[in-house]
Amino acid sequence: MAEIIDGKKVAADIRSEVKREAEDFLEHNGIRPCLAVIMAGNDPASAIYVRNKQKACAAAGIESRSVLLDGDVSTETVLLEVEKLNRDAEVHGILVQLPLPRQVDAEKVIRAIDPAKDVDGFSPVNQGEMFRGHALLEPCTPKGCIELMKRYGIALKGARAVVVGRSNLVGKPLAVMLTREDATVSLCHSKTGDLSAYLANADIVVAAVGKPGIIRGEMLKPGCCVIDVGINRLEDGKIVGDVEFESAAKVAGFITPVPGGVGPMTIAMLLKNTMAAARSRYA
Ligand code: NDP
Repeated sequence: MAEIIDGKKVAADIRSEVKREAEDFLEHNGIRPCLAVIMAGNDPASAIYVRNKQKACAAAGIESRSVLLDGDVSTETVLLEVEKLNRDAEVHGILVQLPLPRQVDAEKVIRAIDPAKDVDGFSPVNQGEMFRGHALLEPCTPKGCIELMKRYGIALKGARAVVVGRSNLVGKPLAVMLTREDATVSLCHSKTGDLSAYLANADIVVAAVGKPGIIRGEMLKPGCCVIDVGINRLEDGKIVGDVEFESAAKVAGFITPVPGGVGPMTIAMLLKNTMAAARSRYA
């Protein structure tokens, strides 16, 4: 049976580390790190995410502000709010909760965020810097996956890694990060012919697709490490990942559960990025 990678525990450790850093920062600079979140509309899932981020900030000694905009807001209004936060010296991190309402040009909004405050690591500047190996702020979810594996002592150097899903938010940046860690990476997607052929040889499998059960135990190499990024709500309300947990846990050496694996790490990494953004301002 695989060892379960406890994302809640690792995330709690990281949050405590950030809290100590934030206290130290306050003591030495008289400044509390501050994260501002922009949310437009009243999508219930987004509202929960924003509340969780605010709670996590408060627990880590990070100030949080929210800018709540109507669902029929225009791109120009969102851009104005971003500009205000860009100029506000008391704000160190800016996060725009996605998805934005349909009429808002999300790409334009993301591009408008000051890269030094882009704690989601989505801006073209930070994505480019990440590619070149110099980014201060990198996307939280893939960063959380790498951190989880490192803290569990998973060997990345020389490992054969398969990342399933090639979004700009998760799959692609994760492939870049794993490559930087000296893993040899295959980046699979919906047009990959025979996914099983890739998985059969993989020491590390990361699933970031959004389809429950797309990866099953019989597809995996015995002893591999499985990181399940997927979050899927079934008809009965149950939350599951992309990996069929029962069968995969029988074959893998390590596996993340859903919930309680990658999810908590995303918020922990957001706090870490906010701390880094604040620190870099006064370095
Ligand atoms: P996207 O929908 O942007 O990307 C999904 C990717 O999966 C695409 O690259 C797509 O390929 C690929 N894909 C779709 N079908 C298949 C298939 N049959 N075989 C192989 N690949 C396939 O999703 P995200 O990257 O934003 O999110 C992925 C999952 O991770 C979702 O469940 C999301 O909820 C979850 N998530 C979890 C987070 C967390 O904190 N735990 C944070 C962010 C996301 P193609 O490019 O060819 O279309």
